[in-house]
Amino acid sequence: MSSGIDMQPAMQLIGIEKTYGQGDGTLTVLKDANLDLAAGEMVALVAPSGTGKSTLLHIAGLLEKPTHGEVYVGGAACHKLNDKALTRMRRTEIGIVYQFHHLLHEFTAVENIAMPMMIRGLTKAEATKRALVLLQYLHIDHRGSHRPTELSGGEQQRVAIARAVANSPRILLADEPTGNLDPKTSDYVFDALSQLVKASGLSALVATHNLDLASRMDRMITIRDQQITDH
Ligand code: ADP
Ligand code: MG
Repeated sequence: MSSGIDMQPAMQLIGIEKTYGQGDGTLTVLKDANLDLAAGEMVALVAPSGTGKSTLLHIAGLLEKPTHGEVYVGGAACHKLNDKALTRMRRTEIGIVYQFHHLLHEFTAVENIAMPMMIRGLTKAEATKRALVLLQYLHIDHRGSHRPTELSGGEQQRVAIARAVANSPRILLADEPTGNLDPKTSDYVFDALSQLVKASGLSALVATHNLDLASRMDRMITIRDQQITDH
């Protein structure tokens, strides 16, 4: 192929089943669920509470293993990796944003963003430089030296987004990233998120209850009868 376009899906989930033990019985959350996430694609996951959105994101984020099924990230068969290799894969290929920012309170915004880069081996100076670039991109560079408790909800989420993409992952997973914000702030944070996704060419899977935001993504999927289908 000479198009220069990466035709390999960023992520492929094939025949995913996830069962939890519950009391003396079992609960099947996903059964034969399949998903292709193309490179550069931004996909909204819209489904009622309890249908398995967080479960799906945890499996895609290599945080939880499916009961059955195959998980490919950039063509690599993650279901065959041991825990050490999975951790490495997660650090390099996956960024995650949650509904609540989960920033470390004793560190500044810049330090929170720099940390995953330093864990990967960048020097403090290198990591700080990139953290500042990301903050500038998200229009919060003036808040870099503040700690999370000194930031607004929208600013905290933008710092969390910067931290998630700090190591230039292949895939960004977001679990109701604006679920805790007022509509105007949600809009602003979502715009920042989607600009960053599009500019960096990464793929994103975003669980949200906000249909307005969902409709601005490339496509919408849902979970119905334990399977992933178009919304
Ligand atoms: P959503 O994010 O769409 O609200 P979840 O993925 O959190 O849904 O949960 C899907 C279902 O799986 C729910 O019924 C939930 O109670 C159950 N569940 C999630 N995690 C666990 C777990 N660790 N153990 C047992 N049941 C779980
Ligand atoms: Mg959830």
